[in-house]
Amino acid sequence: MRVAFLIEDSLPNGRVGPEHTPHLWRLITEEGGWAPDGGRSVLASSTYPNHASFVTGADVQQHRIFTNDVWDSEQEAFICSAFVGPAIETVFDAARRAGLSTSAILGDQTMVGSMDAPSADVHWPPMGEPPEGAATDSLGYMATSEVIAAADRLDAWAADLVFIHGNEPDSALHLYGPDAPETIDAIHQCDVQLAEMVDRLRPRWDETVVFVVSDHEQEQIDHRFDAIDLGAELDAAGLPGIAHNEGTVGLVIESPGAAAIRRLDPIEDAVDLDEGITLAWSGPGRVFGRRHKSINGQHGSPRTRTQVASVFGGHPVVKTLADELASTTPSATDYAPTMAALLGFDLPHATGRSLLQTS
Ligand SMILES: [Zn+2]
Repeated sequence: MRVAFLIEDSLPNGRVGPEHTPHLWRLITEEGGWAPDGGRSVLASSTYPNHASFVTGADVQQHRIFTNDVWDSEQEAFICSAFVGPAIETVFDAARRAGLSTSAILGDQTMVGSMDAPSADVHWPPMGEPPEGAATDSLGYMATSEVIAAADRLDAWAADLVFIHGNEPDSALHLYGPDAPETIDAIHQCDVQLAEMVDRLRPRWDETVVFVVSDHEQEQIDHRFDAIDLGAELDAAGLPGIAHNEGTVGLVIESPGAAAIRRLDPIEDAVDLDEGITLAWSGPGRVFGRRHKSINGQHGSPRTRTQVASVFGGHPVVKTLADELASTTPSATDYAPTMAALLGFDLPHATGRSLLQTS
């Protein structure tokens, strides 16, 4: 048995189909299945919280990456989660305990730390440092062609558990917005690259299960509005709390609570994620922190929670997984427990459920 988990960052579920992703569509319809309405991200609906959930099978309350940046109490500042990593065990450590091999080849170099990828037997880019001369995408992350080449060089495809991340759709959606022609082109390109990855997995197809997922969608930024500074809003209302602005959400620690934050003028809604930790968002396309003229797509709010959730492969268990995806809304936390059930390792901190247990 081999499980490959292919993540296409920001790939919108609504674009999956014969028109924009013909290769993926053929795999889903002829050799597997999917959740037509998609899966659900954890909140914040951002990259690193969801990748931490992909590798731990747990929600933000357990892995403690509530937004891409996390609070560091020593520095008294929000710092990138790459410097901290998930607070609980990942599938890389859990699989190793069971004698299984793992690989993690990641288009977003920062994600190496946020997923604790150095715990995998093979990871790339090395310690999150882009190799000199490596081709990048439009926002400076690793080009997916480099990801595939690195996976070939390192024989990452041969591991029992394979993680591959393609960043290119995310950069296109950030730059051009979800509906731009440039974004549609990037989605077509992503589909071709997915087919190239699947070609690498064909040699042991009968023992292979492949998941293709995305981590979140993006919403079109509304440039008519200025960005919201949640810290300034708290100050103006005389409320306590330390705010962090990120995409289409603001996170508050030492928070006065969602009920108080919801009453702030620019806030549409808020939710308490944990004791003293609140996530807040505004209306569609409203960003927090800084609004850049050249950025047209963002994520974070619950409006961006839909994930691509698909499975295919040659192993007979694929049919069970496809049937389950068709009848449920999988969470980002469900995949790691499913990997554990498929490959036979223990993941005691997981809060998600295995997709092998029918709902
Ligand atoms: Zn992302």
